[in-house]
Amino acid sequence: MMKKVILTGDRPTGKLHVGHYVGSLRERVRLQNSGAYDSVNIMIADAQALTDNIDQPEKVRENIAEVALDYLACGLDPQKSTLFIQSQIPELCELSFYFMDLVTVSRLQRNPTVKAEIQMRNFEASIPVGFFTYPISQAADITIFKATTVPVGEDQMPMLEQAKEIVRRFNAAYSPVLVEPEILLPQNEACLRLPGIDGKAKMSKSLGNCIYLSDEPDAIRAKIMEMYTDPTHLQVKDPGHLEGNTVFTYLDAFCQEEHFSRYLPDYANLDELKAHYIRGGLGDVKVKKFLNSVLQETLEPIRLRRREYEKDIPEVFRILKSGSEAAREIACGTMDEVRRAMRLNYFDEDFIHSQADKYL
Ligand code: ATP
Ligand code: MG
Repeated sequence: MMKKVILTGDRPTGKLHVGHYVGSLRERVRLQNSGAYDSVNIMIADAQALTDNIDQPEKVRENIAEVALDYLACGLDPQKSTLFIQSQIPELCELSFYFMDLVTVSRLQRNPTVKAEIQMRNFEASIPVGFFTYPISQAADITIFKATTVPVGEDQMPMLEQAKEIVRRFNAAYSPVLVEPEILLPQNEACLRLPGIDGKAKMSKSLGNCIYLSDEPDAIRAKIMEMYTDPTHLQVKDPGHLEGNTVFTYLDAFCQEEHFSRYLPDYANLDELKAHYIRGGLGDVKVKKFLNSVLQETLEPIRLRRREYEKDIPEVFRILKSGSEAAREIACGTMDEVRRAMRLNYFDEDFIHSQADKYL
C-alpha cells in the first residue's frame, strides 16, 4: 500500500496567527495525532521567504525560532513530526531546477495567488525570478517527500494544481517515481481564509491585521473589541447582518457547542445566537465578549506551552537541526530515484558497462 505522507509549512516572515491556526496548524496537529500517517513533515520555508524579502534577511532569520515556537506551542511533536528548515535541504534546489523544464512561463503567469501577491507587493514592474517561480520550488518541496496530503489554506489551491501538473509531466517524460499530492482544506468554510480583524479578505502577517498565537490576553481582548462587525447595526434593538461580519466568522471558526454552556448559557448553540442577532436585540459587545472567552480559552494553553519552550531555545534549534537532517535523508533518497529516472546516473556500474559494451 502507498505510504500516507504529509508535507506542509509556513514562511518565517512573522509570528503565526489564528488564521494559520484554523487554516492549517490545528489540522496538522490532529492529523499528526491520528496515527493515520506514515510520516508528517513540517517545513519552515526560509528560502521561499527570501524571494520577496531580499532586503530583510535578518527578518527571515529572526522568525525561524518564532515559527518553531508557535509549532511546538500548538502541539506539533518532534517525536511524531519532522520539523525542518527548507534551506538546509540543498536537494530542493536541484529538483526545482529540473522542474523548471516542465513548466511554461505563461502557465506561471496564470496563477491567481501569485498574481494577487505580486500586486500586494508592488512587484508589477520588476518581479524577482525567484518569487515568480516559487510555485515550482513549492512543487519540489512537496514531491521530494512524496507527499500524498498537503493540509493548507485555500490560497494554496493553485500551488497544488501546479504541483500535480509537474508530477504528471515528470512521470510521463521520465518514469513514474513521483506522487501526485492532494490538498486537504479545512472542513469549515470560515477556516478556509480567515479574514483580518479589519474585515479584510485575509488575515496576513504582511497586512498587520492579525491576532497572533502569542498575543497576551489584554491584546487579544483589545483586538476583538475593535473588530469589524455590521456597520448598519447601530443600536442593540436593530436587526443585524452576518455577511462580512468578522465576529461571527471567527465564531464559526472557533466556537464549539460546549462554549455556550460555559460562557453564554442563554443560548444552546451558534445558530440560536445568530438568529437573535438577525432578529435584533443582541448587542455587538455581548457577542464580542463571548468570542473573547472562546479565543482566550483556545489560546491560553498555546501561550503557556510557548513560554515553556522559550526557556530552552537551544533545544528548539536542536529539534530543527535533527529534523533537517532526517528530512535531508528522505530528500536524498528521492533525488537518487529522480536522477536515475532522468538518466543522469552516469557513474552507476551498469551504465558504465553498457557504455563500454558500445565500443567493443
Ligand atoms: P505572508 O504574508 O508572508 O505570505 P501568510 O500570513 O500568508 O504570510 P503563509 O506562511 O504564507 O502565511 O501561510 C502559511 C499557511 O497558512 C498556508 O497553508 C496558508 O494557506 C495558511 N493561511 C495563511 N493565512 C491564512 C488565513 N487567513 N486563513 C486560513 N489559512 C491561512
Ligand atoms: Mg502567504
